[in-house]
Amino acid sequence: MNKTTSIVNSICPFCGVGCGIGLTTQHNNVIAVQPLRNHPISQGQLCAKGWNTTFGINPADRVTHPLIKRDGVFHKASWDEALNFVATKLKYYISQYGSHAVGVVSSARATNEDNYAAQKFARAVLKTNNIDHCARICHSPSVAGLKQTLGSGAMTNSVEDVDHADVILVIGADPTENHAILGGRIMRAKLNGAKLIVIDPRVTRLAQVADLHLQINIGSNIALLNGLVNIILQNRWHDADFLLSRCEGLESLEAQVANYPLKDVAKMTGVSEKALIAAAKLYSHAKAAFLAYGMGITQFISGTNNVIAVSNLALVCGQIGRPGTGINPLRGQNNVQGACDMGCLPNVYPDYQSATDTGVIEKFSKAWQTSVATKPGLTSLGMSNQARKGNFHGQLIFGEDPVVTDPDQNKVAAGIRALDLLVVVELSMTETAKLADVVLPAANFAEKEGTFTNCERRVQLVRQAILPPFEAKADWQILAALADKMGMAEQMCWRDSEQIFDEMAALTHSFSGMNYALLDKNYGLQWPCNADHPFGSHCLHQDSFPIGKARLIPVEQTLTAEKPDSQYPFWLTTHRLHYHYGCGSMTRQSPVLERETPDGLLFMHPQDAHDLGLKDHQPVGVKSRRGYLETRIIFSEQVAPGLVSMPYHFKETPSNQLTNDAMDLTTEMPELKACAVSIEALNAE
Ligand code: SF4
Repeated sequence: MNKTTSIVNSICPFCGVGCGIGLTTQHNNVIAVQPLRNHPISQGQLCAKGWNTTFGINPADRVTHPLIKRDGVFHKASWDEALNFVATKLKYYISQYGSHAVGVVSSARATNEDNYAAQKFARAVLKTNNIDHCARICHSPSVAGLKQTLGSGAMTNSVEDVDHADVILVIGADPTENHAILGGRIMRAKLNGAKLIVIDPRVTRLAQVADLHLQINIGSNIALLNGLVNIILQNRWHDADFLLSRCEGLESLEAQVANYPLKDVAKMTGVSEKALIAAAKLYSHAKAAFLAYGMGITQFISGTNNVIAVSNLALVCGQIGRPGTGINPLRGQNNVQGACDMGCLPNVYPDYQSATDTGVIEKFSKAWQTSVATKPGLTSLGMSNQARKGNFHGQLIFGEDPVVTDPDQNKVAAGIRALDLLVVVELSMTETAKLADVVLPAANFAEKEGTFTNCERRVQLVRQAILPPFEAKADWQILAALADKMGMAEQMCWRDSEQIFDEMAALTHSFSGMNYALLDKNYGLQWPCNADHPFGSHCLHQDSFPIGKARLIPVEQTLTAEKPDSQYPFWLTTHRLHYHYGCGSMTRQSPVLERETPDGLLFMHPQDAHDLGLKDHQPVGVKSRRGYLETRIIFSEQVAPGLVSMPYHFKETPSNQLTNDAMDLTTEMPELKACAVSIEALNAE
């Protein structure tokens, strides 16, 4: 290898699996990527996205300098000019309308240190709890649901537990596409003898090799899960000792699931009675059953209750607190776990300390040496809704593209256009950045130091491989400079990211045993890591739950907000593709990945296509009550007749024009997974 090259260990910036990568650098460029051979998660492998990391690091349309829009056109500005502009505007809107009229959306792609700085900036500088990020639209119901049942909203076990399970149950997730290294590990476990149950309305790649695939009707998760619990209790297949010693609420759960008899559940879910019984038996009889779920559980108006129903099933069978078991939400973005842990949510400070608890408010106020926000904050969708009503005026968005990724895009864009000030901190000119008043150039993960937390709570070091190009800076540096312009320099003054991490660790229980030196030695550490758990925590809830006994909570099947009718006769659901990630702003820079999946096609069962007289790849118009788009269909038996599905990565065919923003009342999670659409043929060119 050329002497001018070096390899810097880092973490893949795409999904929440958190694979180890080595970045080969030359002349301040990342020229190649390779897997880390001994990394405990990826074990020397990467998926297609991981191998193509290099392309996303320095995109061709990189934002190079601060930009201020005047008369509809962006003009280059100095950092000083741009920050003064933003600070003056923010101070003005706060003085005119109060702190609740401004807010921050941080990034699940940024480091823990960036996210800690973002929530501190909101709470200590802007004096608002209006701080949120994209967990709102992926796993906010996991945090809310598991907090109620177990006392902690994160993955209970570790990726490695897949290897120790004799049964793996995957519900509402497609890890071969979204979490491919974990998906591969599940495949390997199956080859080694583990039984695999997949519950999904689509025939995913895992479903194709599963021992049991329960192809449920979309939105019937709770009916199915209650039905399984009912079968298990009726047959006395439950774990009586575990329920007696570790759980409460069995009686009320038993009474409620009795309302889900086998015949009714088969009808509601579309799954045969035989398959339901087989799945209940297999899961409950396992020595160790690993349960994983994804957004097919959370992205419904019943998202929080769906998560509770998942939890009930695992608890009734005692499949938690041991190696190979657990309730394991598969987090989407590389640091969505960390952004939640760092308190980038309107209701909690770092480590899930309540934002409305007076003791917590006092603690942070004292530590940060300033008054902090006391009123409840708005979610990201709440900020957007208030903007449309004229009640919300200034917003900072870091590394997110809600115009592409959030439901009902026309409404989202209207909310953004209604803002008096939108500041977007980004690598490239995303669709959201194009609507901003100020765009600030961000440094990416290879250009800064910090930590990411993967889906199994592992905090891992990300090392700086190259210097940021042009005028790009880390988010925390931008926030510190802006705080300075707003007269709060002292509160946000850090030497480096390590100092931010140490400040955060000193204010939290779960991270108090961590520091950069320890993270460097151990391929990271899993929280909680403190005096009680100095080596971190591989498996949660082994002896007790944070709330004492786990809670079994009865939940009822809820109808989706919309269902097909004569005007909109098809169900539409959304899915993700192996080759792309999020809004595609990074993965679509790779010609290799782009070649594999050039378009956002509409997956349709051949029988439906035949009934509509459509040919494979025929152009179609797709319409919902919220929007319209044009694409092409692709024949696919992955979807059942009556259901069509679309990936959401493509701005040219934005499926979120169509999706529904009806919300889960607990978390404001929109129902991205189910809405009704009509389809019409367009003439082929
Ligand atoms: Fe990156 Fe996720 Fe693929 Fe691992 S599985 S290489 S973290 S995208």
